[in-house]
Amino acid sequence: MKKRILAYGRLSEVQLAQLSREFEVQQFHGLASADDPEFRAALHEAHGLIGSSVAIPAELLDEAPNLEAIASVSVGYDNYPVAALTQRSILLCNTPDVLTETTADTGFALIMATARRVVELADFVRRGDWQKSIGPAHFGSDVHGKTLGLVGFGRIGAAVARRGALGFGMRVRYAMASPKPALEAELGAERRELDELLAESDFVCVTVPLSEATRHLIGAHELARMKPSAILVNIARGPVVDEAALIESLEMGRIRAAGLDVFEQEPLSPESPLPYMANVVALPHIGSATHETRDAMAQRAVDNLILALSGERPISLVNEDAWETRRGA
Ligand code: NAP
Repeated sequence: MKKRILAYGRLSEVQLAQLSREFEVQQFHGLASADDPEFRAALHEAHGLIGSSVAIPAELLDEAPNLEAIASVSVGYDNYPVAALTQRSILLCNTPDVLTETTADTGFALIMATARRVVELADFVRRGDWQKSIGPAHFGSDVHGKTLGLVGFGRIGAAVARRGALGFGMRVRYAMASPKPALEAELGAERRELDELLAESDFVCVTVPLSEATRHLIGAHELARMKPSAILVNIARGPVVDEAALIESLEMGRIRAAGLDVFEQEPLSPESPLPYMANVVALPHIGSATHETRDAMAQRAVDNLILALSGERPISLVNEDAWETRRGA
C-alpha cells in the first residue's frame, strides 16, 4: 500500500504527479494553520508532510503516530519543534542552497533601496511632486565603498557579502558566526563582536536563523550601538529584531533607515507604522520569491520527501540524529 502524504505548499503539476506516483497525496490548498480540523484529522494517517509557512507545534505530533518525515519548502525551520521531531525519529528536511542567491539579491535590493531612497522618491514622482530639480533634502547615501556588517555569516550572509565586496567595493565585517578563514581571504572580511560590528557598519544585514538564542538579538541596546547614519536590513526572520525598539530608533532618528523583508507578525498588522515611514522599505517576505527559486525549492522538498519515505537519506536534513536512529532501527 502506498504511504500517505499531506501537501500544503505550492507544487507544480509535474511535482504533484511525481509525488502521486509514489504516495497517496491529500492536498490542502491555502492551509493557514495546523489547527484546521480536516488537516488534524488527516494527520492520523499521514506518513509525510510537504509544505511551508504553517507552524507545526510539538503537541500536534501526538496526533500523527505514523509520521516519518516533514519536507519543508524553506531553509528556515523555526516553524518546527526540532527536538520533539528528533525524539520521535521524524526526519525534518529543508531547502538550503537553492535559495541562497535569490535571498541575497533581496538583501541587496533593500540595501540599495534604503540608501538611495528608491521607494520614497518613486512615490514622490508618482504623486506629481517632482516640480523642479531635487536638492539635498532628497539626496541619499552611497553604498559603494562603505562598511557592510553581516549578523550571521552562513550561506546567505556570505552571498550578500560577495555582492558588497566584489560588486560595490565594500568592507565586510561579520559577527554571530564561527570564524570563516576562506571567506576572510576571498572577501577581506573581518570577524567582530556584535557590538563592535554594529558600531562600525554603515549597513547591518541580519541573516541569522530564528531560535530562542537569536530572538530579539537586535534590540534597543544593539540599535543604540549603530551610527545615526547607518541602515538596518533584515532578511532573516522578523523576531530576530525587536520591532518596537526598531520603530522607536527610526522615529527618533537614532538610525537612518531600515529595509525589512520579514516582521514579527506576518502578514504585517494594519496597525504597524512601518510601511508608512518614509525611511522604511517594507516587503511582504519575498526573500526567495522568484519563479525559478520557488520551483527549485519545491523540487528539493519533493526529492527530500521521496528519499526520506523510501528509507534513503534526504538531500538536506535538519535533524541528523533522527536519521541515525532510523538507520539503526
Ligand atoms: P546558514 O547557512 O545556516 O547560516 C546561518 C548563520 O547564522 C551562520 O553563520 C551561523 O553561524 C549563524 N548563527 C548565529 N547564531 C546562530 C544560532 N543560534 N543558530 C544557528 N546559526 C546561528 O543559513 P542560511 O541559509 O544563510 O539562512 C539563514 C536564515 O535566513 C534562515 O534560517 C532563514 O530564517 C532566513 N531566510 C529568510 C528568507 C526570506 O525569505 N527572507 C529566505 C531564506 C532564508 P555558523 O557560521 O557558526 O554556523
